[in-house]
Amino acid sequence: MNLVGIGYDVHRLVEGRPLILGGVEIPHTHGLDGHSDADVLCHAVADALLGAVGERDIGHHFPNTDESIRGISSLEILSRVVAVLANQGAKIVNVDVTLVSEAPKIAPHLDPMRTRISQVLGLPPARVGIKATTNERMGFLGRREGIAAMAVASVFVPEESSSSSPNA
Ligand code: MG
Repeated sequence: MNLVGIGYDVHRLVEGRPLILGGVEIPHTHGLDGHSDADVLCHAVADALLGAVGERDIGHHFPNTDESIRGISSLEILSRVVAVLANQGAKIVNVDVTLVSEAPKIAPHLDPMRTRISQVLGLPPARVGIKATTNERMGFLGRREGIAAMAVASVFVPEESSSSSPNA
């Protein structure tokens, strides 16, 4: 059967950090703050995938109190999430993400991001949607205080791997 999951994340923009989005370093005056590389796009996708199979969120699997993962690439986090799904026999069908970023301009970096994400997920690029919009200068995102991402994921699991059915 097909399952879907949703993910949302936001990180604060600060000086003195590289800006990593979708596994790609983007030249900018500020970068995202966080325990890992703070790649908000990867985090939203990871949460969507975990949610689709009823797993707890990325903060549970990769707590910011765990010093062993300080500064970890979020592509690595995503790859560990892919392994969690694989262990359950779940097959990722597609993911779709929207970044909300007032600055910098994301469009020139969409294709490299899609390449990275599709490689980690083991999907053809056509099954990875990555889009970006501004927040029309409104609110904290519009004031460039942070960057947000929302994602959905669809995964397929064989019927026999689902633990119970309400119609059984
Ligand atoms: Mg995060």
